[in-house]
Amino acid sequence: MEPKYKRILLKLSGEALAGDKKTGLDYEVINKFGQSIKKCADAGVEIGIVVGGGNFWRGRSSGAMDRTRADHIGMLATAMNALAVADGLEHLGLEVRVQTAISMPAVAEPYIRNKAMRHFQKGRVVIFGCGTGNPFFSTDTAAALRAAEIEADIFFKATMVDGVYDKDPHKFKDAVKYDKLTFNEILSKGLKVMDATAAALCQDNKVPILVFDLSRPDNIYDACMGKDIGTLVME
Ligand code: UDP
Repeated sequence: MEPKYKRILLKLSGEALAGDKKTGLDYEVINKFGQSIKKCADAGVEIGIVVGGGNFWRGRSSGAMDRTRADHIGMLATAMNALAVADGLEHLGLEVRVQTAISMPAVAEPYIRNKAMRHFQKGRVVIFGCGTGNPFFSTDTAAALRAAEIEADIFFKATMVDGVYDKDPHKFKDAVKYDKLTFNEILSKGLKVMDATAAALCQDNKVPILVFDLSRPDNIYDACMGKDIGTLVME
């Protein structure tokens, strides 16, 4: 079977990488995501990954610390996750490159868009660390930005809920899941899919978003194959 998407940008939140522990890294979980990612690569899908950092640090919950400094620490946390995911994927036999938006040449390549494109051509997975490289942004915004830059067919926002609901499904039993939404509906209904900057970037650059659940890791592969999962947001 042919995959539905040729090039994807997958966003893995820091929380997802921590598994049940909620903080730090769960290598078993990373391995499971890796197996699904490998199936996508084997099917010929070009894969860019943006990792979050919430399992180590969140700028906004750093209390009295200066916001810019706290965000710098948050971006360094995403670099640690990028290296951990790279290691997991390499153990499964994938070729991987880490590129960071804040230069750390002893550790990873600097982010260079054309170089990333070349890696895709060669069948390598590219993991983008350090978010956008700027404070006051989120890794969702970094994922939307990279998705637009690499001309991804879709932005996979893999989370801990299986799509977008009209209200919080953890709090309300009668919450209803949407199968499809437009960007304007997200705004008009006040739905929380991602932060407004990230959503606006996707809307402006016509990058569709698929929100789906990572508690079943093979959803990454199913999403690539075009299976009907999660919530699709598009124009
Ligand atoms: N961050 C930042 N600029 C970016 C991306 C991330 O300053 O472009 C910082 C910010 O402090 C954020 C932290 O990195 O809280 C971790 O990212 P995020 O909270 O988006 O990770 P996730 O929730 O996906 O694990």
